[in-house]
Amino acid sequence: MNNCVFCSIVGGKIPAEKFYEDDDFIVFADIEPKAAVHYLAVPKIHYALLSDMPDGGEALGRILKKISALAPELGLKNGYRLIVNQGADAGQTVFHLHIHILGGQPLPFADMRPR
Ligand code: AMP
Ligand code: ZN
Repeated sequence: MNNCVFCSIVGGKIPAEKFYEDDDFIVFADIEPKAAVHYLAVPKIHYALLSDMPDGGEALGRILKKISALAPELGLKNGYRLIVNQGADAGQTVFHLHIHILGGQPLPFADMRPR
């Protein structure tokens, strides 16, 4: 049994504030929002990392395109930022590929200098 929290949300075993769902992915509210609007777009298939996705990236392309279509309904009329944290250095905590969708306010630039 896989005990991945996002697989549990995809499977309906734990609740989430779902905004959108189709055959490929779901969009739900982040439980600890880091901006005025913070959703996660999560492929239904479990890929721990971006690098685990098969070649081609068609699924990812479809997800990105759909996010851009959903943005106004998500309250992101003035823009948004998409983030994928990959691995330890990026602080990834949930090892099921997800795209953060952040906005609803002017966003500060991330400090990308090494610490
Ligand atoms: P990351 O650091 O990129 O792995 O981000 C994981 C994100 O998942 C964090 O922003 C968490 O707040 C969020 N998260 C963890 N568990 C849940 C959950 N049960 N429902 C919604 N969001 C969650
Ligand atoms: Zn998973």
